[in-house]
Amino acid sequence: MTRRFALIIDPIGASEERADYADTFTVVDAAAPALSVGELSTQRGDGVFESIGVVDGHAQEVLPHLERLANSARLCDLPVPHHEQWRQAVAVAASQCPAGEAVIKLILSRGVEHGPTPTAWVTAAPASDFATVREAGIKVVTLDRGYGLDAAEQAPWLLLGAKTLSYAVNMAALREAHRRGADDAIFLSSDGFVLEAPTASLILRFGDRFTTPAPTGGILHGTTQLSVYEHLAGRGFDAGYDRIPATDLSKPDAAWLVSSVRLAVPITAIDGVPIPVDRTLTAELNQYLLSPRD
Ligand code: PLP
Repeated sequence: MTRRFALIIDPIGASEERADYADTFTVVDAAAPALSVGELSTQRGDGVFESIGVVDGHAQEVLPHLERLANSARLCDLPVPHHEQWRQAVAVAASQCPAGEAVIKLILSRGVEHGPTPTAWVTAAPASDFATVREAGIKVVTLDRGYGLDAAEQAPWLLLGAKTLSYAVNMAALREAHRRGADDAIFLSSDGFVLEAPTASLILRFGDRFTTPAPTGGILHGTTQLSVYEHLAGRGFDAGYDRIPATDLSKPDAAWLVSSVRLAVPITAIDGVPIPVDRTLTAELNQYLLSPRD
């Protein structure tokens, strides 16, 4: 695919039933203007999104992504997306993806200011080539996210568990990591616990036990982390969820950032301290993540 593909969805009510939703989709030229200047997604980042990995035309883990989109919509008081309508839109976008790796994005915006309905669209585009970073790994630094571990409960309006379009903070954290000579960041809560990366989940290995921060509402529950855990369970490993103190980051036997498109990248250093890399397991995880998964 050299060009992006885009279709606009005319969102229907969550309970409306039809056999086919094709007439609610409008394919648009992805290179041409399509949104109104009154769009709240662009003015305020007021909307939610998902990025789905596509391998050889197969959209990965569509159901978990649609469930998370619906959860994000609920947290933001947006109309809950119609599951089957969005599933069919993803299938149309996937059919436009050629062999190799691509990414489908789903966007649900609050729409135009004072407008009657949300705005929704789906895009497909070739993915960046992550083959090298999956092998070579990344250096990360820890960054204070500025909230306590209980922030999601104390201040639900921060929308911490929703995948909102307001990613300016996440991008600023990545720029800060680059300024500090690293490739990526791990957010810490202000009370000293490990959270997530700006665009990925963290998995740590201690001996034969794998752990990741418990998704208590303050972080996104990663679909890739769930897939990796399924694979690890199948291999007989113990993989669980914990409240992980930041001090534990100095001593893992291996660590990865995992996300839907970059997949599993091994961490080679945290705050300048080298972390052992398990190349064989990393290759196995990526091979699994690149296999067709529903
Ligand atoms: N955490 C954050 C903040 C993210 O933005 C992402 C993905 O973009 C993830 C975790 C990983 O989620 P997934 O594995 O579903 O891509």
